[in-house]
Amino acid sequence: MAKGLPQIPMEATGRPLSVPADDMPLPRAERPGWAVMGLGHFALSQVLPAFGGSKASRLAGLVSGDRDKARLVAHHYDVGEDHLYGYDDFDRISDDDDIDIIYNVMPNGLHAEWTIRALEAGKHVICEKPMANTVEECREMIAAARKADRRLMIAYRAHFEPNNIRALELKHEGAFGDLKMVNAVAMRPIDVSRPRDEWRVRRALAGGGSMMDIGIYALNGALYYLEESPIELSAQISTPVGDPRFAEVEDTMTVELRFASGAVATIGTSYSMYDNRIGLVGTKGRAMLFPATGYAGNELVEGGKEMGLREVPVGESSTIQFAAELDHFSRCVMEGREPRTGGEMGLRDVALIHAMYAAAEAGTWVRLNQDGTLA
Ligand code: NDP
Repeated sequence: MAKGLPQIPMEATGRPLSVPADDMPLPRAERPGWAVMGLGHFALSQVLPAFGGSKASRLAGLVSGDRDKARLVAHHYDVGEDHLYGYDDFDRISDDDDIDIIYNVMPNGLHAEWTIRALEAGKHVICEKPMANTVEECREMIAAARKADRRLMIAYRAHFEPNNIRALELKHEGAFGDLKMVNAVAMRPIDVSRPRDEWRVRRALAGGGSMMDIGIYALNGALYYLEESPIELSAQISTPVGDPRFAEVEDTMTVELRFASGAVATIGTSYSMYDNRIGLVGTKGRAMLFPATGYAGNELVEGGKEMGLREVPVGESSTIQFAAELDHFSRCVMEGREPRTGGEMGLRDVALIHAMYAAAEAGTWVRLNQDGTLA
């Protein structure tokens, strides 16, 4: 035997656990049961497949207005017929003990009503962004969660995305010095010939245009890194005249936010262009997430005072964000913890977006309360 090497048996034998027990998937029977509500494009393309990679969440039911579609999806995801619900018979879900959590993936204008109904049915709820069309609706959702003593989370998936998590760690490690500026852009062309974009140009269902839909990623991202609420903002809207897509909602919007610390942020969003990035600029260093909030393939680069930027390896795929988000909420429910992205955060962002609309309309800077509402 070579000197200095540990002694181990040379025949087949058991060895110690080599990964922490916490990293192992929970047995299915111990996982909270989830029902996904609104089987549209995002639910089918991202949410449902994410259960396959989850470690603490179990798909147990579906809620849909289209019974045939629900049956088909249930077949592929092995969901029992007795756990399928429509909008007309939804309230009987309160008797379904196999369902603990409902994921609301419906159009924005239906978030408040159906989140509140799910809470009243005794279920914990994760609701897609934006939390609701109005601040009042957000308040009602938070009150409903309190009254029902259930958890409420807003599905800000970028908080669970490895590049975004690493970038915030870099800030906390002091890599940027004082973070003084965030420049965030989230844009995509809208195409009303696709069913999923039809409701996005109708104010009653969308609540607003590009800012409500995708600019909210840039806003939420800027606040994620700056870790403070803005004290004032100014905004401009640029919408092509006569384009029927923008009869009810805005196209392009630019916003400037100021913070008590002296930091500033700029936000750009549009339904006519494509871009997705977040720039972080500090007194000592800088970083860029490009793309910042894609479903897959996000990248992070950082650099100091010298001009070059280097890639920051994060070791995990961006796609893990979806399962990580599900599992965070499952564990919050199991452990009775508040989620990282709760209703107050959702309310703050909806309030700030309405403040942006007010500032654009008035053509002036507007002052803000801590919760994002107009001062
Ligand atoms: P879709 O239009 O593709 O899906 C919405 C689904 O909601 C429909 O398929 C339908 O499901 C249900 N629904 C109920 N009533 C209506 C109605 N009156 N009009 C339209 N749909 C209705 O939209 P998306 O999947 O793209 O978006 C859904 C939600 O997810 C939105 O809040 C959006 O902001 C959010 N989203 C979040 C993303 C993220 O990255 N976090 C990405 C994309 C969207 P059924 O037929 O089963 O009843």
